[in-house]
Amino acid sequence: MTTYECDPTHPDKYVEIVPREAAATTTTSSTSGTLCAHEYEWVEDEAATAESDAKLVHKCKKCGNIDMRMTEANSAYVQFLRESADKITKASANATVKIEAKNWSSFQRTVIDALSKRPDVTLVVNYTEAGIRHQITIPAGTDFAEFIDENGYTGFGFLVSKGLETDYWAGKLTK
Ligand SMILES: [Zn+2]
Repeated sequence: MTTYECDPTHPDKYVEIVPREAAATTTTSSTSGTLCAHEYEWVEDEAATAESDAKLVHKCKKCGNIDMRMTEANSAYVQFLRESADKITKASANATVKIEAKNWSSFQRTVIDALSKRPDVTLVVNYTEAGIRHQITIPAGTDFAEFIDENGYTGFGFLVSKGLETDYWAGKLTK
């Protein structure tokens, strides 16, 4: 293909010649040869993990130009909840599901809902609070009627107050 610039057969078309470095930050020519009028939307660039928040980019859906980046606050926690609920839902019959909660200190309703649908599952949660490892064991068939607070959360401290704390080191020291 020859350039449309000064092409008498395409008088209405042109390409803007911009230096390579400038192209990323200024308007960019699109495939039709017209300047991109940038239509930005927030899209996920890096998915959240249970430990790090998702990275979002404000990207033009027509030419792919990026003008802003941000971290999606709270997405690591949401991912932790999603993975926890998923583990419970997919557990085999009468399984003991172990969740490593690292520094998280609560579940949100989605996890408790998943657990109440699986009364055959025992849930063991390991977490760290003020540098100390803790373990909670929620026995299969626990009644969760009063386990969710008015904000939709179940704090691990609350589960401990219900007498559900178990000895984290017991399992580690045998053998
Ligand atoms: Zn664009």
